[in-house]
Amino acid sequence: MRVAAAARAGSVVVFGSLNVDSTSYVDRFPLPGETLASTGFATALGGKGTNQAVAAHRSGAAVRLVARVGADASGDFALAELARHGLDVASIAAVPDAPTGVAQITVDASGENTIVITAGANAALTPELVVERHDDIAAADLVLTQGEVPAPTIERLAAACARFGTRFVLNLAPPIDVSRGALAECDPLVVNEHEARSVGIAPEGAGSADDWWGAAEAAVGRVARSVVVTLGAEGAVGAAPGVSVACAAPEVDAVDTTGAGDGFTGTLAAFLAGGAELDEAVVAAVAAGGLAVQRRGTTDSYASRDEILQAME
Ligand code: ATP
Repeated sequence: MRVAAAARAGSVVVFGSLNVDSTSYVDRFPLPGETLASTGFATALGGKGTNQAVAAHRSGAAVRLVARVGADASGDFALAELARHGLDVASIAAVPDAPTGVAQITVDASGENTIVITAGANAALTPELVVERHDDIAAADLVLTQGEVPAPTIERLAAACARFGTRFVLNLAPPIDVSRGALAECDPLVVNEHEARSVGIAPEGAGSADDWWGAAEAAVGRVARSVVVTLGAEGAVGAAPGVSVACAAPEVDAVDTTGAGDGFTGTLAAFLAGGAELDEAVVAAVAAGGLAVQRRGTTDSYASRDEILQAME
């Protein structure tokens, strides 16, 4: 596919959650009241906003991540990890009275997981912070946020983007209750099948990729300015006024799909910020998703811009 529009590095401001993922591996889940020894343990950078910021950065965008950590060892770890990825951490402040957000993950021998999330410092992503960041929002090509950010903050971001003429992209994951007015500003709204249904985007028929393509087209102007629906191993569909795209995922040996949706969204945002049309950005994001699922981990699984461009050829 032609990728001329992707030559420019666009600027992306991510208002996003930052967590430290603590994963214990067990043979089986403990029963209530039971204590079990794990078979392994890993600590990794996480949070949807942070994952998407890393993916957008790897995809070639100039990224500013606005996030909050606690004044604790997890916060230090997260900042060091972001610096290792080469991200600008100047807009990440430590709040004094809350812990760094944490996801406590347990994975059993079959690969099934349980996850407990403590929002901690992420609760400091307030609407007032949006106002403090008006200059950054006005200067950016694109603002990206997710359902892990409080709804009033998402709504204030949508209003600020409308005021300053900055493109607004929302990944409604997890699905939370956001005003119809904020959804209407999304360009695009990025959702998986479950999240799509939560805002009234539903396919006719059995839910084939073609059915979802039609649902995305029908949601343009009704739910959001433009819409992208991710379909896991089936790829993704998208629609905007005058643009419509269905992109099958490459057939790959998927070893770890954790964070694939975040990798997809970060790459999509980076290409849009760089001037790509929605169809081209969806093709790039599907290529990036296909590369990410072939590697273990989340932020460490995201492909570089060169790898993505090569996979698009
Ligand atoms: P998650 O929450 O697990 O990150 P999600 O539901 O947000 O996932 P998916 O639709 O599962 O997002 O995946 C996002 C994108 O990643 C897909 O649109 C596709 O491009 C790519 N992808 C996911 N799974 C596979 C796979 N098995 N093979 C190839 N590409 C995949």
